[in-house]
Amino acid sequence: MLNHAAYFNERAGKLVNDGIVTRETIDFYHALFEYHLRQYERYANDPNPPELESTDLPIAKTGKNIFLHDDALRLLLPGLAPLIELVATHHPGLVFRALSESLAADPGVMRDVTGALFENDSGRLGEFALKHKTGAEEAVFVVINWLKPFLVFLRGRNRHMIPGGVTKQRCPFCGYYPAMAAIISGKDGRRYLQCALCEHRWQYRRIACAVCGSEEAKDLEYLSSETDARYRIDVCHECRGYIKTVRIESAEELDECDLAVENVLTPHLDSAALRQGFRRP
Ligand SMILES: [Zn+2]
Ligand SMILES: [Zn+2]
Repeated sequence: MLNHAAYFNERAGKLVNDGIVTRETIDFYHALFEYHLRQYERYANDPNPPELESTDLPIAKTGKNIFLHDDALRLLLPGLAPLIELVATHHPGLVFRALSESLAADPGVMRDVTGALFENDSGRLGEFALKHKTGAEEAVFVVINWLKPFLVFLRGRNRHMIPGGVTKQRCPFCGYYPAMAAIISGKDGRRYLQCALCEHRWQYRRIACAVCGSEEAKDLEYLSSETDARYRIDVCHECRGYIKTVRIESAEELDECDLAVENVLTPHLDSAALRQGFRRP
């Protein structure tokens, strides 16, 4: 797993100075990235992690039950309490007791929530949150950040199984949605998407919506950032979806760019897209 905290620290100071993110947000994400790395190392050091078959991919379609595997639950459950404590420490108003109790007690809850998450079923996620006395966004945040280091670990271990040359808008490993895109400028022009969950990065069609896949030029547009030419927002008038994009100069630079952190550091771009009526998948 990439050491997000190091890349984050390099870039965060300037953003605080520019008033784009607050010092509290920086402290919170710093702690969150350290949490991810600690959990990832715990998984990587385990002698009996769950095994995947290539037919389990993408996990959203065929391998969802991996989360109910005894070895997966044994690994995942100890990571839940520290995450909830971290979120509660930085956001004292948020309470996740019911959520953590029911996830720990009943694997069926795990099946329901991972199913709703992968299907992006906002109705079911809303019901799930209500039942556990929390907000839908907060519940999704906790579940994503809990599963993330586990999926990053599983992806690294099974990277030979991930189909290449896939130009779909969903992650070929886990089936979740991309969080952020990168485009290499100039005549190279290659475009990549990075999964919001397992952080897999895959090449995608240069001219196509990253949310619905439309290739209709009349539906596709990008909004350039007023303050920073490093970024643009690709929007689609067909599905009203958007994705934030980092402009990269070269293929080498792509490997140095941590898209998971870029996503966290650009909330002003999300606000701009939402104000214009676009939404994330
Ligand atoms: Zn993924
Ligand atoms: Zn679209």
